[in-house]
Amino acid sequence: MKKTTKLLTVTLAMVMAACTLTACGGGASEGNTITFGTNAEFPPFEYVTSNGVIGEYDGIDMAIAKQIAESNGMTAAVENMEFDSLLVALQNGQIDAVIAGMTATDERRETVDFSTTYYTATQVMIVKEDSDIAAATDMADKKICVVQGYTGEICVQNMGYSYEAFKKGTEAVLELVNGKCDVVVIDSATAQKYVGDNEGLKIVEDPSAFESEEYAIAVQKGNTELLDKINSSIDKMLADGTVNELAVKYTEEATAE
Ligand code: GLN
Repeated sequence: MKKTTKLLTVTLAMVMAACTLTACGGGASEGNTITFGTNAEFPPFEYVTSNGVIGEYDGIDMAIAKQIAESNGMTAAVENMEFDSLLVALQNGQIDAVIAGMTATDERRETVDFSTTYYTATQVMIVKEDSDIAAATDMADKKICVVQGYTGEICVQNMGYSYEAFKKGTEAVLELVNGKCDVVVIDSATAQKYVGDNEGLKIVEDPSAFESEEYAIAVQKGNTELLDKINSSIDKMLADGTVNELAVKYTEEATAE
């Protein structure tokens, strides 16, 4: 009896070791790792760099993800994919959570659960310095660029304007710099980064047209175990000023580059 139990334990340990080595099961991690899905094209929240906080990934979200994992005695891993694929990957169980400057919208809430809000943003318009666009309604007869699947696209759609959608924010901004479009609608902090990186651009705000947006972390519907861990870490990081410090740090870094 004792011998059998021991044998079983050893066998189980060997199977588990093999699993760790070959990452069997693939995709979303079990046990001691939280695999966060992101789209590392959204500075200052997530971007690729040579020496990031999680491997090659850096930014406000990446630092938050790392702390969430560590404060729960776990490790954070990142899977980088297109923004449009994130919620599907989450539902498929390929990733455990999404942290991607993602706005918790009612539509998204139909398929996933969101954490406590950790950052509030708004859509803004990036235009050339000499542009006559001063309000959202001025975009009516202009060429508008957005990023596919971002809330900026949804806003412009709801306003009834036609637009062109790009896969990446950098592509949309390049179009503006090259004079091929008149305005890019995108999230505020990311807009600041792009305006800092490119000469001759400015930001136009219109709070009457763009509502504030709450960034939150998404988990599979009903995954309260992970959501509780995430929420308790976020609450702590909000209360002790960590989120604020990270926002300041990465915004300064982003504009200083
Ligand atoms: N906040 C926007 C959204 O949720 C953009 C997010 C992003 O590009 N990472 O759609």
